[in-house]
Amino acid sequence: MAKKPKSRVKGKKKKKARKSTRKHDQYEIKGNKIERKGRVCPKCGAGVFMGEHEDRYACGKCGYMEKKRKNSSK
Ligand SMILES: [Zn+2]
Repeated sequence: MAKKPKSRVKGKKKKKARKSTRKHDQYEIKGNKIERKGRVCPKCGAGVFMGEHEDRYACGKCGYMEKKRKNSSK
């Protein structure tokens, strides 16, 4: 655990909106419709999926967090 903290360079160049990695893994085709796994970050927009935790979702990109609803239809 002797890692140096990442030095964040300020004033970085504007990045082109790159396609998020492996979107396919986040979708699953069920019958005739696409089931979306996970949750999309409302801040980052479509394409950015949030990590699922026990009782919440968290976006690894912007840090947005959303609580899970208890009354999920299942
Ligand atoms: Zn986000």
